[in-house]
Amino acid sequence: MNEISVEVANICNSVLEEIINYLQESQDMNTKVIELKSAETLREKLDLTLSETGISLAELLPLIKSYLQYSVKTSSPRFLNLLFSGFSVPGILGEMVASASNTTMHTYDVAPVATLIELELIQNLNKLIGFPSGEGLMVTGGSNANLIGMFCARHKFVPEVKYNGLENNQLIAFVSDQAHYSYLKATNLLGIGSKNLIQVKSDRNGCLIPSELESEIIQALHNGKTPFFVGATAGTTVLGAFDNLPSIAQVTQKYGLWLHVDGAWGAPVLFSEKHRNLLAGSELADSFTWDAHKLMGVPLICSAILVKDKGILSQACSGVGTDYLFHDDENSSYNLGEMSLQCGRKVDALKFWLCWKYYGNKGYQARVEQLFEMAKYAVDLLHSQKNLELIIEPKFLNICFRYIPQNSHISAEIINQINLDIRNELIRSGQVFINYASYKDQILIRLILANPEIKKADLDTLFENILIQGKKSEKKYV
Ligand SMILES: *Cc1c(COP(=O)(O)O)cnc(C)c1O
Repeated sequence: MNEISVEVANICNSVLEEIINYLQESQDMNTKVIELKSAETLREKLDLTLSETGISLAELLPLIKSYLQYSVKTSSPRFLNLLFSGFSVPGILGEMVASASNTTMHTYDVAPVATLIELELIQNLNKLIGFPSGEGLMVTGGSNANLIGMFCARHKFVPEVKYNGLENNQLIAFVSDQAHYSYLKATNLLGIGSKNLIQVKSDRNGCLIPSELESEIIQALHNGKTPFFVGATAGTTVLGAFDNLPSIAQVTQKYGLWLHVDGAWGAPVLFSEKHRNLLAGSELADSFTWDAHKLMGVPLICSAILVKDKGILSQACSGVGTDYLFHDDENSSYNLGEMSLQCGRKVDALKFWLCWKYYGNKGYQARVEQLFEMAKYAVDLLHSQKNLELIIEPKFLNICFRYIPQNSHISAEIINQINLDIRNELIRSGQVFINYASYKDQILIRLILANPEIKKADLDTLFENILIQGKKSEKKYV
């Protein structure tokens, strides 16, 4: 039996203290953002074994401490590696309360408040996108939201597939060659086959070329296939490109195809008067992916699939054998589980709602605009450094660049190696955690501005360190 006692209160207080220290420390310039250790070394340092007999609550404390000690400090302004960074107090509180009041989102009767909160969130997201009578659901990540977007499209096109399987249907989906890899998984899972995902050429800014899209659709029709789905991206993962939605929608409307927009990274620009034009035409989509755990800073996982026309999610997801769960009563229209592929579903809505309550639309607008300012600062710095070169002029918060050696005789291959060296050395030193990517055979360094705590001074230091490492590495090769 669990007993709420002094012992419980003590451990809760101690852990809270640890969490606060941890967050404080991660903001300190002298704390390493990452302490790179091999899996073997780390395994030796941690007490991972599980035993026959349990331990006391108090004995959990050192385990929690060492968890925090050896984890990556993703809340640091020097964590620039992925599309999330920083921390959110309302989000952390939301996670704690959701766990303490542990429930599942499938029916209104077990999650009454959470259900109403989720519906409110979905309605507000839909309002921003321009789906006035839309529906939606919180799902386990942007990848899964993309999957469900494609799943809805498949249901709309060939509803009988639900019972018959794909049979002779040869469905074809289209995304740009810059789209997220989750689409390949979606075509795999939905039985469409990844070879039937056409990766349409993008232009030099990484945006899908609408005329290329149309040519690919015509080609597929010519080959007797059934085009059904186009996935545009609002904020691509590497370059931060926004596909031109009105032009793409013209094509999807002409051929009667489903238009999904993957806004996992870029959707929150909709909060900003100044930058929402990047997503002009969002209302033309049929479905939309939104990650609140990236730019909005809600703790992972926090994502939604949004659909323009009500009813499709439950039609696509409903199965048989659910009579035991979904009973007809006055609140049955509030049973979100009917729209879900999951049975048990975590309450992700609470942390999201608390964050949104706390910041308000204006807070999110300010956050987005502040990060754009930082991006501009980074771009200006890059322009002023002859050893650093932008890959493209960024439209968003992805700053992709590379170090160019002073010695102009160095081969393209070595330039790639130097850039890789720079990135690896920064991580090894624990100063910054930044990512690299390969784009058109070039290794580039990808700076992501997602943490509103990033200051100009942080960027100055970053580029200084990159130049120092670049020069060091360059010496190795001459
Ligand atoms: C991050 C990302 C995804 C995947 O989202 P997860 O929440 O990590 O599953 C999908 N699309 C784009 C454009 C992304 O940047």
